[in-house]
Amino acid sequence: MFDEKGILFVLSGPSGVGKGTVRQKLFEQDTNLKYSISMTTRQKRPGEVDGVDYFYKTETEFKNLIKQNQLLEYAQYVNNYYGTPRSYVEQQLAQGNDVFLEIEVQGALQVKDNFPDGVYIFLFPPSLDELKNRIINRGTESNTLVLNRLKEAKKEIDMMSAYDYVVVNDQVDRAVTKVQSIIQSEHCKRARIEKQYKKIMEDELNAGTFD
Ligand code: 5GP
Repeated sequence: MFDEKGILFVLSGPSGVGKGTVRQKLFEQDTNLKYSISMTTRQKRPGEVDGVDYFYKTETEFKNLIKQNQLLEYAQYVNNYYGTPRSYVEQQLAQGNDVFLEIEVQGALQVKDNFPDGVYIFLFPPSLDELKNRIINRGTESNTLVLNRLKEAKKEIDMMSAYDYVVVNDQVDRAVTKVQSIIQSEHCKRARIEKQYKKIMEDELNAGTFD
């Protein structure tokens, strides 16, 4: 009914939190989201397909893409480059499609600079409850271990401040349901749809065909 622009959803979070698994499950379900396939210089893993899991590039190719400003963001992660193709994301959004990125934290922060209207979801390790238990049961572990865990958790909590939503990945299915709810809610947000409602009313009024 409305000529709605697509929404950019970015799923990110600390390394090893299960972003890939949550994203895969989300896309196994019936969804209208467009997944932006990233570029990477890392080696293809067994079972991965070029153009499905990633677009695999040499380092020279990747650096050229950076120079030509063809990447919306990029980051170096464990000695490899990863980046999001700019044109795909921009075209899909302009066509009214929602776009979904699953990227690490440095990249997500760069995207936020370009797309402040995007929706930034932080996938949090299932350790929040665990963390509470550790604190409560202090003494069952060495102080150093507890302290290290707390430091790690603090770093992760500090990272989440740039995000709009936090989803704890305690169970994949639960996390996926939460991400789907976020997507639905964002489409109902007054700030996103008000302009379109107003424009339709103005067009009707200007047409003046009421008698
Ligand atoms: P993997 O090598 O396991 O497929 O991915 C390693 C990390 O890179 C994951 O945290 C994944 O979310 C992230 N990643 C995948 N694609 C991109 C991308 O286009 N940009 C950024 N910044 N990170 C990405």
